[in-house]
Amino acid sequence: MKIVRSTKCSLQFATDRKKTQLRLFLVEYVRVVNLYIDLFWFDTPENNNKLVKVVLDKVEGTWLAYNAKVCAARQALGIVKGTKASHVERRKERKRFKSTPKKPRLRRLEAHLSSLCAKLIIPKRKSSFDTWLHFSKIGNKTIIDIPIKFHSPYFELAEIGTRCKQFIITEEYIQIPFRINVAPKLLPTGCIGIDTGMNALASTSTGEQFGTEMKDKIERVKRCQHGSKGQKRARRALRQYIDQTVNKIMAIDGLTLVVVEKLEGITKNTRNPKRRLGKNMRCSIGTWNVAYWLKRLEMACERNRVSFRRVAAYNTSRTCPVCDHCNKKNRQGLSFVCRNCGYADNSDIAASKTILNRYFKFGDGAGLIDRRKDCGSRILPDSLSGQQDIAAQQRDEVKFTESK
Ligand SMILES: [Zn+2]
Repeated sequence: MKIVRSTKCSLQFATDRKKTQLRLFLVEYVRVVNLYIDLFWFDTPENNNKLVKVVLDKVEGTWLAYNAKVCAARQALGIVKGTKASHVERRKERKRFKSTPKKPRLRRLEAHLSSLCAKLIIPKRKSSFDTWLHFSKIGNKTIIDIPIKFHSPYFELAEIGTRCKQFIITEEYIQIPFRINVAPKLLPTGCIGIDTGMNALASTSTGEQFGTEMKDKIERVKRCQHGSKGQKRARRALRQYIDQTVNKIMAIDGLTLVVVEKLEGITKNTRNPKRRLGKNMRCSIGTWNVAYWLKRLEMACERNRVSFRRVAAYNTSRTCPVCDHCNKKNRQGLSFVCRNCGYADNSDIAASKTILNRYFKFGDGAGLIDRRKDCGSRILPDSLSGQQDIAAQQRDEVKFTESK
């Protein structure tokens, strides 16, 4: 199984001239990418091989050289295909999702260049830099050389993987991807469910709680003036705290499978009268950074050969993990007492048990089951091994990049 990991190195400009040159190139490049997106949106070529000269020459009035145009067209095709594919995926999950996708636009100054116009050249003479980033054939006979110093993650990745020929280049940094072979995932023997919450960032079905200072960290961000340096610092501290919590969870003995709830769209419609939240709560949810937390957890799982699954998030904190009784009154603040069987626990821990149960009940398709058709096709717990495992392993082979 192969995954792609990447590392960032900052560009060290000796002169302002080079900086301006690179900026001019990136601005023009992004403009051309967007022109190609307009072109490919209605008439999508099948793959990169279809991007021949006739197609590329449809975009006119640019000083970019042919090689740079090839890179731009490939990037545009990738963006168009990615948008369409993710739209299809999301339509599958939610029936009422809008029927046509919105045309994407590249807004960041970000170029995905292949060896056609950007190379890393190791200097022959000894110098204080590790390598030169060499741009050629980008147009206007411009040649830019920018010195780069590698960071320690680069050397770590270089030891275990092979460098890809493609780079992501922005005004400040270059992102270098590596292809790494990873051993297959462990069999799911040590499964935990994780409930994401604001009191404790993670409560596990084994009864432990991690990240209990989360509320203080969020409060600290909220106390700072918006957009101030102090707020940036506080946000960084929050992210660091999330990373630490992820590491603590990864240190659990014999962990092989993590189940979390799908927490998409909790920041949406918070002003809608149907689910209106107070101003204080809205601010907290905004700074909470759930997406970051789940992404970090997923990445850490991949690194540690742990499987990562999501289940639907409806009524997780109201359902009893023992008898499945769902009642709003089951949960009273921090404590959970079942109205049916009398089971009592911390409400977050009860929720994490429900999450794990839900995974066992519905299996891998749990996230896709509509809550109204809840009782539909149930999968028995013992079918977890066998067929599902194969499906799960195939899903794990999806590549995704991590940047450090
Ligand atoms: Zn119960």
